[in-house]
Amino acid sequence: MADRYAWTEPGAEDLGGGVHRIPLPLPMEGLKAVNVYAIADPGGVDLIDAGIALLPAREQLTAGLREIGYELGDIRNFFVTHIHIDHYSLAVELRRTFPSVISLGEQERANLIATREMVNGHGNRFFGVDGLRRMGALELITQLSAQNRQPPALIDWEDPDRWLTDGTDLDLRTRTLRAVHTPGHTRGHLVFHDAAAQIMFAGDHVLPHITPSIGFEAAGNRMALSDYLGSLARTLALPDARLLPAHGPVTGSTHERVRELLAHHDTRLAETLSAVQAGHATPFDVAQAIKWTRRHREFADLDLFGQVQAVNETAAHLEVLAVRGQVTRSVSAEGSDLYQIAVTSPE
Ligand SMILES: [Zn+2]
Repeated sequence: MADRYAWTEPGAEDLGGGVHRIPLPLPMEGLKAVNVYAIADPGGVDLIDAGIALLPAREQLTAGLREIGYELGDIRNFFVTHIHIDHYSLAVELRRTFPSVISLGEQERANLIATREMVNGHGNRFFGVDGLRRMGALELITQLSAQNRQPPALIDWEDPDRWLTDGTDLDLRTRTLRAVHTPGHTRGHLVFHDAAAQIMFAGDHVLPHITPSIGFEAAGNRMALSDYLGSLARTLALPDARLLPAHGPVTGSTHERVRELLAHHDTRLAETLSAVQAGHATPFDVAQAIKWTRRHREFADLDLFGQVQAVNETAAHLEVLAVRGQVTRSVSAEGSDLYQIAVTSPE
């Protein structure tokens, strides 16, 4: 696909009704860009998500806003879908200079606290080290320690101005957005739904080209995939809407993509169950026994970050199988989770 990254081209895409998509560059491999959506009216703009606190992103936001006749100082609100650095950090930086109000889902509070502890050196040095140990992935911890990874941007993880609860209606001047709690990608993820205009600002909950990572968050969430599947079901229960994702192009139907994601996880759950049947017991073992990405790559061929994500995903699928009574979990002498096929089948 030659135009796979056409959506990352700088500028402002007019989506109608005063809504503009402004992609901002990211230094992360694979993701390339994050979409910020500007909702404009004569008095100013409200943004969905903010990008990463790095100069190229700030410059491209400035240029995108100018293209539609606004300046950074015209931003009234940042409605941020979740705590990840590529969505939240530029909002915090811009708030220092320009008066604006940052809103974030209230369930992200735990992640914000855990992230601060990590950054200040009171917690684990790496994201999810305890989790990796539990998943039997000691090898990956050793590799991560050797890398001494730097975060992509140094930011102060300050609080938002406002914590949003599920179901809050945001009365903007041109429309009303409902904040819908959609945990899974992170525990406090929100989508912003405009039922009247039939559009959904989906953040990383529903992405058109890739499967969102699950539970990749400082506070950790063992039930992330159960939560996520529940959030997908919840999204299907809302009226269908155009999908305005944080990564990738705008597409016609959120429901269509949600159905694909549900089918993907069904397949994954079946593959995970077969691997347990074949005797693989820790999430790390199971992850190595199944194929990854749309190209069905071997686990060993993924880069370190990809392997960490894959083990995380596998653990999340195993937990869903445990909740469904298809596998049972025990703990090894070393403290790793061991899964095996449930002896009695559930009714
Ligand atoms: Zn994210």
